[in-house]
Amino acid sequence: MALPCICDSHIHTWCSPDASDTTSMMCEAGERAGLYAMTITDHCECNLYRKDGYDESIRRSYLETRQAAVSFYGKIRVLTGVELGQPLQDLKAAEDVLSIGDFDFVLGSIHNITGYEDFYFLDYQKEDTEKLFSLYLDEMEKMVEWGGFDSLAHLTYPLRYITGENGIEVKRANHDAQVDRILKKLAESGKALEVNTSGLRQKIGVTLPTLNLVRRFREYGGKYVTLGSDSHQWKDVGEGISTGIQVIREAGFTHYALYEKRVPKLIPIVEGEDFD
Ligand SMILES: [Zn+2]
Ligand SMILES: [Zn+2]
Repeated sequence: MALPCICDSHIHTWCSPDASDTTSMMCEAGERAGLYAMTITDHCECNLYRKDGYDESIRRSYLETRQAAVSFYGKIRVLTGVELGQPLQDLKAAEDVLSIGDFDFVLGSIHNITGYEDFYFLDYQKEDTEKLFSLYLDEMEKMVEWGGFDSLAHLTYPLRYITGENGIEVKRANHDAQVDRILKKLAESGKALEVNTSGLRQKIGVTLPTLNLVRRFREYGGKYVTLGSDSHQWKDVGEGISTGIQVIREAGFTHYALYEKRVPKLIPIVEGEDFD
């Protein structure tokens, strides 16, 4: 194998409220991009599970993805995942969604802090951004301690808005110790860290998290990293994954993980290596 295999483990379809392209369109885009595998990870915002109809949409996502896996068999591997948002804000919802079927992959995300709206909607000129980021990390840390997911999604997500959209810097020194604790606990738990490449297409212009945090995760003994474009439209499927591979290579990893039936399979990123 001359080049590394490209797998995209974070993709949204029209079964997410903020995406509109069909599951087939997304899979066709993945096939055209030459991906080896892609994992559909539609949103399940646990705190809004029944109120906003995620209980229905995630079932639809699961069934459509399973159908797509059959339709695209031999062209691209289509795997069934879910992006669990704020699972600790409603653990019963998290349990319910995972009982739908045998998911291949579960992302753990924090999109909003308890009592606040999604980071997307906040007015950062009025908010105390240091406090917000700290509260976000508190919930991340608790989610890592809970551990009911496979890969920790887009660590530092609020920076997409605080720094990327509003140009406000968060003081690293205020949060370094907590970020370190999260990375250490994640590494010790054997869970994966996601390198989310959506930031490369946005104003922030970097992966979430950046290289220095991926490197720290590895130094703490982290074994698994997953790569995801977080695409919400067909033209973004697979976007930035090659850059993500460079980031993890620089951090010292020789493989990244693709989850099937919630078991990590290691994909080599070094030329000349093969995998089964
Ligand atoms: Zn997300
Ligand atoms: Zn996502």
